Amino acid sequence: MVRASGIELFDADGRRYLDAVSGIYVANIGYGLGEIGEAMARQAAQVPFVYAGDFATEAETTLAERVVALAPDGLAKAYFTSGGSEANEVAFKIARRYQRAGGNESRWRIASRWQSYHGATMATLAASGKVSRRRDFLPYMLDFPKLPAVSLYRAPLGLTAQAYGEEQVREVERRLIQEDPASIAAIIIEPVTGAGSGALVPPPGYIRGLRALCDRHDILLIADEVVTGFGRTGAAFASSNLEALPDIITFGKGVAAGYAPLAGVLISSKVIERLERAAPSSLFTGYTYSGHAVSCAAGLAVLDYLDRHDLIAQVRKRESAFLARAQAAFGRHQLVGDIRGKGALMGIEFVADRESRAPLDPALGFHRRVVEAARGLGLLVRGEAGVVDGVSGDHVLVAPAFNATEAELDEIFAMLAVAIEQAARSLH
Ligand code: PLP
Repeated sequence: MVRASGIELFDADGRRYLDAVSGIYVANIGYGLGEIGEAMARQAAQVPFVYAGDFATEAETTLAERVVALAPDGLAKAYFTSGGSEANEVAFKIARRYQRAGGNESRWRIASRWQSYHGATMATLAASGKVSRRRDFLPYMLDFPKLPAVSLYRAPLGLTAQAYGEEQVREVERRLIQEDPASIAAIIIEPVTGAGSGALVPPPGYIRGLRALCDRHDILLIADEVVTGFGRTGAAFASSNLEALPDIITFGKGVAAGYAPLAGVLISSKVIERLERAAPSSLFTGYTYSGHAVSCAAGLAVLDYLDRHDLIAQVRKRESAFLARAQAAFGRHQLVGDIRGKGALMGIEFVADRESRAPLDPALGFHRRVVEAARGLGLLVRGEAGVVDGVSGDHVLVAPAFNATEAELDEIFAMLAVAIEQAARSLH
């Protein structure tokens, strides 16, 4: 790619691509904004870097204050890393320190859900349930237990959403008991799922039940908001709209919207107090580039841009029209089983049969066919597959920049409808 502007990318041959997925849910305010680059250049000229173990910059401390101000109540400190995997590693380390500081030496495991994705490092892959990404690196050094993936679309037919949510909590408790809750430091979840299972929103009662379980067993709850943080679901953090709050939130991607590598961790007062009682400096984790000044300057400029254009509120306001557009464009297609999501994060799940919701044969690689057909038309979407216990089939994700124009959204869904039809025809 040689040029990018708004939601358009241009390759070396001059081909135009409409980016309907913000790279990988990153470029939330679009490409080519000179003001972000200028803020980064000013910071690079002033102080490009200090080692976080020694010093902080004004860019870092100001960004930390801004991020804490946006976070749900009780999340009181922010710590920056370069990427989401590092952020989750830090969250795991904090969870272990928290448990150790409470005298719970045996609690070191991180429980996570099948179909989840929490990063590409060895510990975060061990905690990821996305089979296609983790299986090439088996076995893991860490024995992390897996909890069931939760999909309302895959709930037994006839069960209410509430009953399904409550049943899933009971299932989590059963698995925890099998695994021994006294070995578990934290449970990590994506509040609205990203790549692994395609924008699944938790059923009612589920998050409240999970929180109660964590409290009962003295387990921390970590919300991985690497995809959902900074407006993607129509709130600064998806956790703000959940039934209960996590103890730790990790974020990434949207915080600097692709202009620089930046991610981080938000930590609750409950966790901080215990850690500080145990050892005052115990939050520091030692990455060379933590809180990199140029990345933090990019983050500040991105937050300013989101504020000035009121883009998070715009995502919220557009949510129902966004889903309705997709429904109108291809909601009646015989292979489209479910269109769902939150804010500007949409998953489209494909099925062999709409009635029974039977997934397509994974060997057909239907999501890849859609992605390739879309790319042929000049549209970028992401596709994934992964059937675990029949929970999730082929799906594609649509997650455009928050400031995509109405005309661009129309173009995205019109092109995607053509791509789905082309992919469907390619099966015969
Ligand atoms: N967590 C989630 C939910 C993600 O989607 C990702 C990346 O896609 C990560 C963590 C890892 O972030 P990074 O690729 O920045 O290390």
